[in-house]
Amino acid sequence: MKKFYTALLACTLVLTACSSTSKDQQTPTTPTVPIPSATPISVHFLNVGQGDAIFIDYGTFEMQIDAGDNSSGDTVIDYITPFVDGDLDYLVATHMDADHIGGADDVLYAFNVANIIDSGETNKTTQTYERYLTAREAEKAIYKPDEDMTIKIDDDLTFRVIDTGDNFSDENDNSVILEMTYCDTKILFPGDMETKAEESFLPLANDIDILKVAHHGSRTSSSDALIAKLKPDYAVISAGLNNQYGHPHAETLDTLKKYNVKVYRTDLDGNIVCTIASDNSISWKTQY
Ligand SMILES: [Zn+2]
Repeated sequence: MKKFYTALLACTLVLTACSSTSKDQQTPTTPTVPIPSATPISVHFLNVGQGDAIFIDYGTFEMQIDAGDNSSGDTVIDYITPFVDGDLDYLVATHMDADHIGGADDVLYAFNVANIIDSGETNKTTQTYERYLTAREAEKAIYKPDEDMTIKIDDDLTFRVIDTGDNFSDENDNSVILEMTYCDTKILFPGDMETKAEESFLPLANDIDILKVAHHGSRTSSSDALIAKLKPDYAVISAGLNNQYGHPHAETLDTLKKYNVKVYRTDLDGNIVCTIASDNSISWKTQY
């Protein structure tokens, strides 16, 4: 989808003249070409060492969630290029730590990105953040901070952004929390949410199927109460092999084991690809 059509669609959706459309009034876009029903969806958890980079491919719709650290931009671009049809429909930057947005500027420069969602205001002043901000502003995509919203891509695929507040002192707690529903299968992407955000999120948590474990499997996330409520069948941990933080922590692995959650890990399994069919069957492939 060319940028012209993206802009035209955005203007149509908000029913205002283009000249008076501020960023706050813009509505995230959906594919202009319908995706055939029963198209499966693939979720790729890329092995980018200590960091997160997740790619979602559904027909001609694609979303990238985080892009690893500063050295991971090319890895992400090389991996996703064969899958991206036209625009990259969404880039989600869960929060402004380098292991999530380090490669995001490279992705923004490499692709025409139609929509950007991130954690909004920040006290960050790092060079990595400044580079991301410069690339975000140059992109002229439709931009939304992570307020509560539902993005319906089509009858089979919906994303819910769940706002738990943006004023936590720890940047990790300000992460975008994204719940994807494809047919009857739910995946939760909570960025690096830790204890405080988890407490706010707990009443809003649904029974899900797959959990992208928050904060690389740190013991400061994934409380017993949260895992008991989410009831995931599968969990994916994105962490660097022998990373300096000891992620994933034994406490988190014990909690997941207690609830019989099947765990995949990028540090041990490499790239992890989960494919969900419209009958809700889930298949997994790993490649180191
Ligand atoms: Zn992180």
